[in-house]
Amino acid sequence: MGKELLRQLPKVGTLLEQPQWQELIDKYRRGLVRSALDQELNLWRRRILDGGGRVPDADELLAAVSSALADLVAPAPRPVLNATGVVIHTNLGRAPLAPEAVNAAREAADYCDLEFDIDSGQRGSRHRHAEELICRITGAEAALVVNNNAAAVMLCLAAVARGGEAIISRGQLVEIGGAFRVPDVMEQSGVTLREVGTTNKTYLDDYRRAVTPETRALIRVHPSNFRVVGFNHEVSLAELVALGQEQQLPVLDDLGSGTLVDLRPWGIEEPTVQESVKAGADLISFSGDKLLGGPQCGIIVGSVEWIGRLKKHPLTRALRCDKLTLAALTATLALYLQEEGWRRVPVLRMITESGEAVAQRAQKLADLLAGLPLSVTVDADISPVGGGALPLHRLETTVLRLRTDGLSADQLAERLRAQRLVGRIADEQVVLDAKTLADGQLTAAATAVAAALGGE
Ligand SMILES: *Cc1c(COP(=O)(O)O)cnc(C)c1O
Repeated sequence: MGKELLRQLPKVGTLLEQPQWQELIDKYRRGLVRSALDQELNLWRRRILDGGGRVPDADELLAAVSSALADLVAPAPRPVLNATGVVIHTNLGRAPLAPEAVNAAREAADYCDLEFDIDSGQRGSRHRHAEELICRITGAEAALVVNNNAAAVMLCLAAVARGGEAIISRGQLVEIGGAFRVPDVMEQSGVTLREVGTTNKTYLDDYRRAVTPETRALIRVHPSNFRVVGFNHEVSLAELVALGQEQQLPVLDDLGSGTLVDLRPWGIEEPTVQESVKAGADLISFSGDKLLGGPQCGIIVGSVEWIGRLKKHPLTRALRCDKLTLAALTATLALYLQEEGWRRVPVLRMITESGEAVAQRAQKLADLLAGLPLSVTVDADISPVGGGALPLHRLETTVLRLRTDGLSADQLAERLRAQRLVGRIADEQVVLDAKTLADGQLTAAATAVAAALGGE
């Protein structure tokens, strides 16, 4: 039975001779069409061997190959509608950029003065573009931008402490998603870890007693994605800086997210970069695409002397970021220099938005969904900030809970994802969180839901 079906499967060579395939062959290379068709036929073959297959007709094959090839050449990553409510969603590309940043990146995509001084016609440094902005915002003397914060930490460690020891509290030996473990990064930088204190309590004397002639730095890492609550003690940055001065050791401060705006009025307890600068840390590093709300990059600020050393370090060449990133970053930073301009940074707009505004947006989406074969309830809820930031903080939000006859929550969620709308599942219902949908995305979200219900 299976053998007979296998024999009936069309042959690649014969199919490609048929005129309806010519258009695909003209568009893509013949070899590419052939291998895509091979792949498609293999799927059918496997289904037949598994016992549940049949013989496809020629139109089905053409449609499948055509869509596989269109997918292959489509630019990726492609946009999704984020209805998860997680503002800094690492799997969904972290911070969505402000329009100003998108425009800047688009313009810099052409020839640009990346490493060229327009006035003198001489070579210029790519590092100069963002440095002044960062210094003006943070109060630091000097700054350097690299590929991401993991790279920033690695570079700081390698430049400051390679071949020696660095002292860190056991309470800060954290793992931050995506295989970034502080101890591993230190090791890769050629630095020996000296752990002090315990998971929940570390005192200044623990650091002082661990100093040896091999010590090159004192390190603080912001425990981004977890908190020790209850019986705990950590040394403040100011205390660590004082010890560093006493022992003539530089203090490295990995802030992780690092916010440029004090979010405490919104109940968000996150140290600002400016505070670390004021406290006197020698090198401070933070991400560009977490609470800063810009493109993926790692920003290092510090003294002219230390940053100057980093700029000359051989690793810097390997870790530098490209013109698109620098353009998007400077455009994002420029917003921070304008009165209330930070509110135009999407991540910060979402985090500080009133619960009422989110509720209105949720209601608007619910109205757009009226008439679809769907049960929709609108509920107050809470959502995390995400991105390994602010683990204890919950944002007030409003969600839509969707249910439809004949589909489980998983099936509905899968169909929504096929329309590039990503929600979450709770209590056997699909949850769409209005917090992370922009006003301008509501129609697209409603269209996606309609298509998910209509399509097979
Ligand atoms: C997120 C984070 C990192 C890594 O930053 P990336 O920009 O993702 O490379 C490093 N340290 C801390 C404390 C973090 O929170």
